[in-house]
Amino acid sequence: HPPFDVNAIRRDFPILKELVHGRPLIWLDNAATTQKPQSVIDRLSYFYQHENSNIHRAAHELAARATDAYEDARKKVRHFLNAPSVDEIVFVRGTTEGINLVAQSWGRQHINEGDEIVISWLEHHANIVPWQQLCTEKGAKLRVAPVDDHGQILLDEYQKLLNSRTKLVAFSQVSNALGTITPAQQMIAMAHRVGARVLLDGAQSVSHMRVDVQQLDCDWFVFSGHKVFAPTGIGALFGKLELLNAMPPWQGGGNMIQDVTFEKTIYHAAPVRFEAGTGNIADAVGLGAAIDYVQRIGLENISRYEHQLLVYATRGLSSIPGLRLIGTAPEKAGVLSFVLKGFSSEEVGAALNREGIAVRSGHHCAQPILRRFGLETTVRPSLALYNTCADIDFLVAALRRIQSGRTSF
Ligand code: PMP
Repeated sequence: HPPFDVNAIRRDFPILKELVHGRPLIWLDNAATTQKPQSVIDRLSYFYQHENSNIHRAAHELAARATDAYEDARKKVRHFLNAPSVDEIVFVRGTTEGINLVAQSWGRQHINEGDEIVISWLEHHANIVPWQQLCTEKGAKLRVAPVDDHGQILLDEYQKLLNSRTKLVAFSQVSNALGTITPAQQMIAMAHRVGARVLLDGAQSVSHMRVDVQQLDCDWFVFSGHKVFAPTGIGALFGKLELLNAMPPWQGGGNMIQDVTFEKTIYHAAPVRFEAGTGNIADAVGLGAAIDYVQRIGLENISRYEHQLLVYATRGLSSIPGLRLIGTAPEKAGVLSFVLKGFSSEEVGAALNREGIAVRSGHHCAQPILRRFGLETTVRPSLALYNTCADIDFLVAALRRIQSGRTSF
């Protein structure tokens, strides 16, 4: 039995009533972005109707309301990640910006010639390219922990990559291309034993499982709001406080300074020192509302429900002749990647779209891991708390029609 009323959840998301090509929308592209509950949409609208102002600076009523709403959202993110202090939460545009912030601030200060940065084969381009750029700039070396044929990181091989030259380890808690849940806590502890810092990419984990940055003991954690039912253009970077306050500012401008003369600028402490200029105030407030929403349902309940759906979907897809599932780790969250014999991923995606089913087909911004499996693209249905077994049944039936040639291209 599901741990919550899925139909009630579905009613919270107005877009799920949308018709696509005359069919009810089946949204199975949650790893790309999630849909927004009415409470988030209403919160944005309330902000613009009753609270809108720039924050921190002006001394008037609406500035106070906007500042309170924004700082309240920061408290919600702190609670969501179980960070020790609200000062450890920096608002950023999303995962990509969070990673680039760490690479350009901490990275430029601490990575030197001959140093090594370790990532994994599972990484999204956002957790590859910034480190590659940093390595090129500094003459450092990027090393990559391999995976087995199920898409699990080979811990023995990972251990062999770690040594006194390893300054940083960066990897994802959940792979966006395969759904693998990595043994993050163990990998972080292994990295710390050689004195490396660790950044954990939580883009795909925060909507599927409870995250506790103190238990994980990661040095930085990044996620995107839009993947956890919040608006686009907002996300958060957690960093341990002493680390953040020792990091040089990334972008310079208003808001992040304590005092400016032409000779010298004194910066604020974290988090404000990393929030130059007018931030995405309204969407941060929307992120707070999205966090309230998932907290009300409970991350444990969401994990449990999605696991049931994942098992159901894995069984359904596996029953289709000629369908090869990519990523078969026993610990997985929400993502099913596959190829269908005789059809390109683009053909499958287009045929599903004509039936109102939204999936991603492509390389999912994770080309290296797909190439590890000899592929350039896959079809990727991905799950969220509002998906149902009926959604999966529609998907499986549509794939059977495609597979048996009953759908024209
Ligand atoms: N890392 C992972 C694991 C992701 O899934 C994504 C989004 N697909 C990103 C990073 C980048 O997130 P964003 O585009 O929101 O910055």
